[in-house]
Amino acid sequence: MEFETVIGLEIHAQMKTKSKIFCGCSTAFGAPPNTHTCPVCLGMPGSLPVLNRKVVESAIKLGLATDCTLNRDNRFARKNYFYPDLPKGYQISQFDLPICEHGQIDIEVDGQRRTIGITRIHMEEDAGKLMHDEREPLSYVDLNRAGTPLLEIVSEPDLRSPGEAVAYLKKLHAIVRYLDICDGNMQEGSFRCDANISLRPKGQQELGTRTELKNMNSFRNVQLALDYEIRRQRDLLLEGGKVIQQTLLWDPDNNRTESMRGKEEAHDYRYFPDPDLIPVVLDEAWIETLRQQLPELPDKRWLRFSRDFELTDYDAEILTASRELADYFEAAYREFGNAKKLCNFIGTELLRDFGPERINECPVRPSQLARLLLLTEEGKISGKIAKSVFAEMLTSGADPEEIVKAKGLVQMSDEGELVALVRELIAANPEQLQQYREGKTKVIGFFVGQLMQRTKGQANPQLANKLFLQELGG
Ligand code: ADP
Ligand code: MG
Ligand code: ZN
Repeated sequence: MEFETVIGLEIHAQMKTKSKIFCGCSTAFGAPPNTHTCPVCLGMPGSLPVLNRKVVESAIKLGLATDCTLNRDNRFARKNYFYPDLPKGYQISQFDLPICEHGQIDIEVDGQRRTIGITRIHMEEDAGKLMHDEREPLSYVDLNRAGTPLLEIVSEPDLRSPGEAVAYLKKLHAIVRYLDICDGNMQEGSFRCDANISLRPKGQQELGTRTELKNMNSFRNVQLALDYEIRRQRDLLLEGGKVIQQTLLWDPDNNRTESMRGKEEAHDYRYFPDPDLIPVVLDEAWIETLRQQLPELPDKRWLRFSRDFELTDYDAEILTASRELADYFEAAYREFGNAKKLCNFIGTELLRDFGPERINECPVRPSQLARLLLLTEEGKISGKIAKSVFAEMLTSGADPEEIVKAKGLVQMSDEGELVALVRELIAANPEQLQQYREGKTKVIGFFVGQLMQRTKGQANPQLANKLFLQELGG
């Protein structure tokens, strides 16, 4: 029996605001427990929430970037449940009237383009964090995170493989970072996802019973967890068993899923409009202002890169993975106009140490990289030397010209100077000369190698080749 995989993702993106969604407390990560709290986010009776305007603006921007319908009138609702990390006994979220609905984004997997529907995007507050002491029967609660602003992005069950799920997740990750509304840090939980997954016999319309996977804090874990869950569900179904709808926790240390508390299965949150907050009304002028502020988004930038710089789809995708990297490339390109060479150097040398998200931490600035590559273009240094100069630039931050000069790395391209050495080497190796004359032309490699050794790698290799051919009597 053949099965089709069906996946829908619920993504939580923490908004990059200075303060929380309904109070003035700081959202900074890593502060001592419970120091970023106040009566509002501690859920004290009688305290009143006030909506952070920046959160609404972030939601509008994301809605515009993903072709959503913006609900001009939307509102907050209380999602009631008890848990020790939720002091109010309810989470302020959106329910029947979310801020954005009916959006979509395009993904590409194995050269195939697909459009994935976005059901809704809503604003909500995060809960606190529990820490369990394993040596004692004791748990601690840190409410610094309580009230941190989140956007929840719910997809349609349109994804058909773990690869598509990861591509969708990566695309959304790129979009929120291009918009500069979320830092995208998955380790710190600023961008996290729950995946719903089910199987159904090929050809069947009706969806199968799903499980929900939680706690996946990297793209790799999402892929592994979904692969695992497909195998688990398929084995179960082939044995004639039934998938039980439940929430599973991905255990990255043991590469398997385990069952979690069944809170979500109750599904009776008794949602009702939050009486402490007035409806959120979006006026057209506000939306228009924000639309004007949208940057060029990943898909558009990718298209422009592959077209204007004549790069392959793959190269363009790498360079536009983050806004910082795309900016870096364009800045360097303005001074060094060979897009392909620049892209290759960035791909092999720069991205090895700095991921697309960390490019701004690289001490070598775009203009310095451009000048380094210009030195190779002008024949002043070889490509090999350029790589070692770059390594030096990474540690010292010095300019390429400076390093090349200080270390005497300038390539020897002076014919007169080289020809003398070439003659000397030929005279010193009569055996190889004889071999060459007998037709073993490969010996030229030996001679060039000798020359490189003598010049500590500084001889221009093309020129060296040419001179040996000439002197050996081609
Ligand atoms: P809940 O209220 O439990 O969060 P939703 O109906 O809102 O459930 O769906 C949550 C996510 O699960 C959505 O992304 C949706 O696309 C996905 N989903 C729903 N049913 C299925 C299914 N049978 N198989 C896979 N994904 C599903
Ligand atoms: Mg859910
Ligand atoms: Zn607070």
